[in-house]
Amino acid sequence: MYPYHKLPVPKRGQGLIKLRITQLEPEPRFKCTACGICEKNCPQHCIEVVKMENDKQPEVYTVNYGLCMFCRICIDVCPFSALEQTQEYEFIGESRSDFIRPKEQLMMRTVFVESEKETRTKEKTEA
Ligand code: SF4
Ligand code: SF4
Repeated sequence: MYPYHKLPVPKRGQGLIKLRITQLEPEPRFKCTACGICEKNCPQHCIEVVKMENDKQPEVYTVNYGLCMFCRICIDVCPFSALEQTQEYEFIGESRSDFIRPKEQLMMRTVFVESEKETRTKEKTEA
């Protein structure tokens, strides 16, 4: 009966990859520092990252979902926890280019607040 009836996706369901943001206004700030590690490690070569000239922010960040196999490697290798895997699985397009998603479409709408646990882990690593 899809799309009228949809099965609930389990919490560990591996859907679209999204970029975490640390602020939304006046302009979005990404947790991503555009270091390019995910781009280098993606087995499908479906990520493209270009760093801003004067800021550790992505000027360009695109994921080609026509190639992505949802393996999570990009999330696991990111040293800044800048990516999140959502349970979102519905994405359609009329041409291959529709599956190339820019940062504006990958951006999560909720502002990421670093949890205490993550801060403690970071302090431990830095000590
Ligand atoms: S590894 Fe993380 S911080 Fe580096 S470019 Fe990828 S998402 Fe951004
Ligand atoms: S989930 Fe895997 S294939 Fe998809 S962008 Fe990340 S590393 Fe590449």
